[in-house]
Amino acid sequence: MTTEKNKVVIIGSGPAGYTAAIYAARAGLKPILYTGGQPGGQLTTTNDVENFPGYPEGINGPQMMMDLQKQAERFGTKINYGLVTAVDFKDYPFRLLIDEKKEVMAESVIVATGATAKYLGLPSEEKYANRGVSACAVCDGYFYRGKEVAVVGAGDSAAEEATYLANLCTKVHLIVRRGEMRASKIMQHRVMNNSTIQIHWNTETEEILGDDNGVTGASLINVITKEKETISVEGFFLAIGHKPNTEIFKGILDMDEAGYVKVKPGTTKTNIEGIYAVGDVADRVYRQAITAAGTGCMGALDAEKFLVSKEVENAK
Ligand code: NDP
Repeated sequence: MTTEKNKVVIIGSGPAGYTAAIYAARAGLKPILYTGGQPGGQLTTTNDVENFPGYPEGINGPQMMMDLQKQAERFGTKINYGLVTAVDFKDYPFRLLIDEKKEVMAESVIVATGATAKYLGLPSEEKYANRGVSACAVCDGYFYRGKEVAVVGAGDSAAEEATYLANLCTKVHLIVRRGEMRASKIMQHRVMNNSTIQIHWNTETEEILGDDNGVTGASLINVITKEKETISVEGFFLAIGHKPNTEIFKGILDMDEAGYVKVKPGTTKTNIEGIYAVGDVADRVYRQAITAAGTGCMGALDAEKFLVSKEVENAK
């Protein structure tokens, strides 16, 4: 088994990982970045990104990620297309196993593994991905202004996304699988008092309908009465939660009950000195490309400071 030793290893290739890489590389730390199974992260599943500052005309999501990669490489980041399959943070330097075969040593690690939006699991969801099906109203809602849309879910995200879309769209169908919502009372109140939002209680989605241009509607079923109905919508938004990609850190890094990595407020520091968590993996609230990029920068600065303090310690 070959073992490399690095100052900084970054796990993940979304805006958080690449921003951490740009800062660490410019600080001369020669970071190594492992892309994970979805190089470019969640933004590669989006068409146009119009809310990232600096792009007055918007930018295509996959293009933006390629640009970030190029920028990281320009300053000396080594990008590896591999998956970190296990970590050992007990001893120092830390050890990471890549693709279950290669071992890498790291003096510091920046965890930027992100989160994955949950989907219903319908074949039509995949078929119309990026053509009407979206898991982010703030990212894609603008493209449906003046149109009719649906939101699935009954938590704070669904309530927030439905309210957000109600400002842009002619009608929002909120599809709730039970007879009540789990969203906070204030968010429920907003949804229920918004005349643009129609709530479909006890309702599940059987299929998303569409044609060559994308989504045209959805067929719904009331799980109690078994009555079916078809709604006409051009946008179909999933807001049924996210799953942080933290499997390999279970029992190693402190996490909240949903599996998001806990960081010391105002920093990217985890419970282990030298390991930093940035982007959606440590953020269940904002989950935006720009906030992920911001914490990616913080992670690189935190790692750099840690490495300097280690050098000072070793020189004594
Ligand atoms: P939640 O896990 O809170 O809610 C997910 C919702 O999706 C539930 O209502 C659930 O239904 C529903 N759901 C799950 N699977 C399916 C399915 N297969 N079909 C239909 N519906 C389904 O996720 P959120 O993303 O809403 O929130 C995550 C966390 O982030 C929460 O703690 C929330 O409070 C917080 N948050 C806070 C915000 C704020 O404060 N502004 C904004 C957004 C999120 P059921 O209820 O039946 O289980």
